[in-house]
Amino acid sequence: MSTSFLYHTQGVKGFQFQSFDYSGGRVAARITRKPGTFFCPECGAYHTTPTYTGERTIKALPMGSKDFVLQVAMHRIRCHRCAAFRMEPLPFLPSAKARVTRSLARSIIELRGNMSIIDLAAHFNLHWTTVKNIEKKYLKKKFKRIRLRDVRWIGVDEVHVGNRLGEKGFITVVRDMKSGAVLHVGKGRGGDALKDFTRRVKHSKCKIEAVAMDFSPAYKAWAAQFFPKATLVFDHFHLIKLMNDKIDTIRRRIMSRLEENDKKALKYKRWHFLRNQEGLDADAEAELHKCREQFEELGTAWYMKESLRRIYSLAWDADSAALAFDRWCELADATNISQLHTMARTIRRNIDGITAYWTTGMTSASMEGFNNKIRWLNSQAYGYHDEEYFLLKVFDLPYVKNRRDL
Ligand SMILES: [Zn+2]
Repeated sequence: MSTSFLYHTQGVKGFQFQSFDYSGGRVAARITRKPGTFFCPECGAYHTTPTYTGERTIKALPMGSKDFVLQVAMHRIRCHRCAAFRMEPLPFLPSAKARVTRSLARSIIELRGNMSIIDLAAHFNLHWTTVKNIEKKYLKKKFKRIRLRDVRWIGVDEVHVGNRLGEKGFITVVRDMKSGAVLHVGKGRGGDALKDFTRRVKHSKCKIEAVAMDFSPAYKAWAAQFFPKATLVFDHFHLIKLMNDKIDTIRRRIMSRLEENDKKALKYKRWHFLRNQEGLDADAEAELHKCREQFEELGTAWYMKESLRRIYSLAWDADSAALAFDRWCELADATNISQLHTMARTIRRNIDGITAYWTTGMTSASMEGFNNKIRWLNSQAYGYHDEEYFLLKVFDLPYVKNRRDL
């Protein structure tokens, strides 16, 4: 082992290798700054007097299967120009108090895309909070500034994340509907969760042309106040989600009326009704068919949901979509199911925003996928009690490729 070896394998520069020792299953290299190269970290002067103060242990990249640490001789530097004492800086650390080298931190970030925090901690023999904090620091830097200037379409959505973030239970996410990037994550829901974003938008002078959202009055009011010229879009994803909520309500209402024994027929069938028809396997489809015959109301509601979905695959422009929605509402009114009546009312009241989906040419496939990703992130156990880290991970979600337990 030598000074140049340490430089080429560990990125340690300006330090001299002194000795190495192998004990307790790890390799330790003792290093010290080259004599005559001590400088003042404040003014840069070399006219200094170093005094040895002790050793500091820094974890470096492992050597083969063995842990590797640097034992750095630390000095207090007296700068004659400043007439002050300084602590010796270690340029191979990512930050002054870091306990791992810059090159180890970089390896952790590179591997993080394919390995969980726990796997990485085990691999490098580190505590999992150390791994988490390294990633957190990296994410903080990555998402420090988010460019808003070129953003034209935004999508606002609230996602339930349980009691992870204190009492609030929800986060509000704003995304660029063209690039998919996360532009803002606010705690809570409604206009309050968007305050910081609104301020940044004003500052960036970007021209928002369209805002996609669900049917909640809070976001409508927010958009009307801050983006009076933007088109409101109630996208595919949110309309079908609302319809699924109605189906769920109907299913629960029917369940509550049934005798204990008859409930079995509907139990555990929730997803049969909510999932897209083409996503069901043969068994599920057969079960769904049986349920639909047995519970007529539910059968009708399910059929209405599928025909709503069909409008999105068949309508070629805003006019043909408006016509199809109108026909849909008539059919809904003709049933005696109050939830479908409400649905028809909502559609009629918001028809401009619903058909704007065709005029703007927005797609919401990414929206649905993204909400699933947040739910998946939320189900991960490690590190997410740290609120700041969790929010940073939401920003990073569009860049996460696979969804194994990371
Ligand atoms: Zn100085």
